[in-house]
Amino acid sequence: MQQRKIQTVAIFGGGPAGATLGTYLARKGLDVAMFADGKRPPLIVGESLVPAVVPYLRELGVEDEVASFGTWKGGATFVYNQEYRLNIWFDQVRGGGTPTYSYNVPRDLFDACLRNAAGRAGVRIIEQKGTIERDGDSRRMLLSAESLEAAAHVFGGRQPDWIVDAMGRGRGIPKLLDLPVDAGERRDTALHAHLQGVEVEVATNVHTDRLSRGWCWRIPLPGRVSVGFVLDTAFARELGDSAEEQYDTFLRRDPVMREWAKSGRRITPVVRYSNYQARVRCGIGENWALVGDAFGFVDPVFSSGMLIALQSAKALSAAICDGSPRAFETYDAYVKANLDAWRGVITRYYDGRLLTMFKRGENVQRHIWGKLMSFHFRKHMPRIFTGDDVTNRYSAWLVEFMSTYGLYGHDPEEYRIL
Ligand SMILES: Cc1cc2nc3c(=O)[nH]c(=O)nc-3n(C[C@H](O)[C@H](O)[C@H](O)COP(=O)(O)OP(=O)(O)OC[C@H]3O[C@@H](n4cnc5c(N)ncnc54)[C@H](O)[C@@H]3O)c2cc1C
Repeated sequence: MQQRKIQTVAIFGGGPAGATLGTYLARKGLDVAMFADGKRPPLIVGESLVPAVVPYLRELGVEDEVASFGTWKGGATFVYNQEYRLNIWFDQVRGGGTPTYSYNVPRDLFDACLRNAAGRAGVRIIEQKGTIERDGDSRRMLLSAESLEAAAHVFGGRQPDWIVDAMGRGRGIPKLLDLPVDAGERRDTALHAHLQGVEVEVATNVHTDRLSRGWCWRIPLPGRVSVGFVLDTAFARELGDSAEEQYDTFLRRDPVMREWAKSGRRITPVVRYSNYQARVRCGIGENWALVGDAFGFVDPVFSSGMLIALQSAKALSAAICDGSPRAFETYDAYVKANLDAWRGVITRYYDGRLLTMFKRGENVQRHIWGKLMSFHFRKHMPRIFTGDDVTNRYSAWLVEFMSTYGLYGHDPEEYRIL
């Protein structure tokens, strides 16, 4: 990679990562074309935003609009089983400066809102699927003749200086270059639908319920609740052939869900996602970069995806404006560190250590030393739930230390996600 001045950029994908990147670049005066194919399933996951997303919404100038179509989110409720719940209130998290609330959003409206913001910033949105090609045997990327023509009003028929893959988990460039992709540890299936008549325990909170198998989210949206299950793929197959059959069967069978879903009515088809944990080993090349899910996605639990997409978009815009190899290497390392930090925390959710640690933490608060410790922990632990600086070394170390040595004989197996 050579130091260069980058003036023209083609972005493939008009989801949150692509649109946000486009906005930041256009505001810096770059000429940006964004291909947005507009192909979306009937509903899209990624509806629960962590508080650390809010500063991005403010920077993009869209917070009021998001507030108008989303629901206000004040915290997170973790359902361990039929008896025990843990409520995390964002306004009780100490320090960090992150807002003490966030939003849950219907994704179609959220994506359109970010895309419109990109348009207002000067991004030229091309409403069609864009195609990239490999430049001969090299590792460089080119716009196909058809895409170059579609972007002629932006690039004047010349290849852009830089190409960005923001295609989500479709990952165009990694496929073309056969880049190594590291799969995560889990091979889960997520089944997602919207329901009416479902109970939530705290109206403002996103709910994460540990189930007899796997876990589920309950995200309150205007007039409906988004309910998604994350199940071992082999187990999901045993529930039926179609996604609908699997979803409806398990909703009525699981003892935790059966309770709150008894009056529930599914009002959308079921959308199925599988094997989504993946990270491309290198997110930058000679004239290209990956951003958002195209670079990597960890897991739905803790709602980190959208935050990582927006963070990586902003970081990539800085690298593109700088144009030096070092800036791109810094970007690559930043995204990987971010994905790794989330993966560390998420692993502890699945193996039961995190839930055990928080339950144990609530119990020790009855003692004076427990109260003192809690004051300290409230600064570092809940960062997992607000998304504030998850890469902070001390916070990460504290979570690691406490979830390894702070369980005091409590067996994390009790809360493992099966
Ligand atoms: C089961 C599950 C649950 C999740 N829940 C949450 C959650 O609650 N909260 C959260 O923050 N995150 C969640 N996520 C993650 C979140 O959905 C993603 O991280 C986020 O959508 C990433 O945005 P993106 O822009 O990178 O990709 P995408 O949202 O996938 O956008 C990519 C866009 O590019 C378009 N496109 C693809 N190829 C082309 C092309 N060649 N030309 C033009 N356009 C193209 C696609 O149609 C799409 O519109 C969840 C993920 C999963 C799998």
